[in-house]
Amino acid sequence: MSTSEAQIITASHARVAALDVRRTLPTRTRRSIGAWCFADHLGPVSLAPGESADVAPHPHIGLQTVTWLFDGAFLHRDSLGSEQLIRPGQLNLMSAGNGVVHAEEDPGQPDGRLHGIQLWVAQPEQTRWGPSAFEHLADVPQCELNAGVATVLLGSLENTASPARRDSDLMGAELQLRAGTSLLRADPRYEYGVIAITGATDVAGVTLTPGSMAYLAPGREALALATSETSTVMLIGGVPLETPLVMWWNFVARTREEIVDAYRAWASRDERFARVASRFAPIAVDPPAWLARES
Ligand code: MN
Repeated sequence: MSTSEAQIITASHARVAALDVRRTLPTRTRRSIGAWCFADHLGPVSLAPGESADVAPHPHIGLQTVTWLFDGAFLHRDSLGSEQLIRPGQLNLMSAGNGVVHAEEDPGQPDGRLHGIQLWVAQPEQTRWGPSAFEHLADVPQCELNAGVATVLLGSLENTASPARRDSDLMGAELQLRAGTSLLRADPRYEYGVIAITGATDVAGVTLTPGSMAYLAPGREALALATSETSTVMLIGGVPLETPLVMWWNFVARTREEIVDAYRAWASRDERFARVASRFAPIAVDPPAWLARES
């Protein structure tokens, strides 16, 4: 087992709809962990009456969105015709492939509470040009830890495997920890990220609180996570990407040309991006800065 210390990644702050989010991927120092390339932790917030967390229709290419809530609810609508309410403990997994459009609507909770995370997985060459897809898992498998419980969203952990679609070698889980230390088997081929959601968690020589993520390089046979009270973290891991990603707005690609093609298709309302049945108007976006400079 490697004893090297984890690297702490501090989240940047971004605004999505009416929400402040902590973005731990991508950051300047860390662009991806396995094929995981985006992580926005939103809330916990209590929206005031009249405030909403609606995200109007927008496109994606080349990625899977992984939506996971700790509190509240979202209504997912997409250009495949899906309409799916998601609640805590359930998984929404949308695969964009060559192009999809979705909206995430706030169904309006009586108490206005919302707390969740949205992660993106970069799709590999074999699927990123393919059809879009959506799946909802109402029951996500769990396993007991020494001091807590793991819910396995993607891939496997401690002999518990998620049935959700996985296009590359990776895993993602929510860990609810109580006082004590949980020792997990790790895959030495994987690099890992531990994203703090609530409480304080010790891992590989560092202490994580919300707004920070630990990065652990490949080569570990085990991970030890400890807390003195209770805490929640997301554990993500995977085989490091061989090809750098090019990300812009809601698109994940490998070249700027691919990004420009997708931007032009969205701006011209090309049939690459089908309509989604939403009461909101599709989001418009300015062209990439480098494209504006060239013209
Ligand atoms: Mn989206």
